[in-house]
Amino acid sequence: MSEQKWRVTVDRDICIGSGMCVGTASNHFTLVDGHSTPTSEVIAPDDTVADAAEYCPVEAILIRAADSGEVIAPQG
Ligand code: SF4
Repeated sequence: MSEQKWRVTVDRDICIGSGMCVGTASNHFTLVDGHSTPTSEVIAPDDTVADAAEYCPVEAILIRAADSGEVIAPQG
């Protein structure tokens, strides 16, 4: 399990640019033209990124297991 990677995506059509994810996980998200963008698409598991996905007000952030595609966050 320690080898598992996460794939992070942001749906820029849904993102309202609140910047909350940048505040929660500044290493992993950046605002580009008013929409969040992951700084890296494939990352080592990181609780701050999972938190950002949970807290995004419009659930624009999706984290999946890079290998299986299983949804890791948000948990709904
Ligand atoms: S928290 Fe959600 S809506 Fe806000 S900038 Fe990040 S992805 Fe966009």
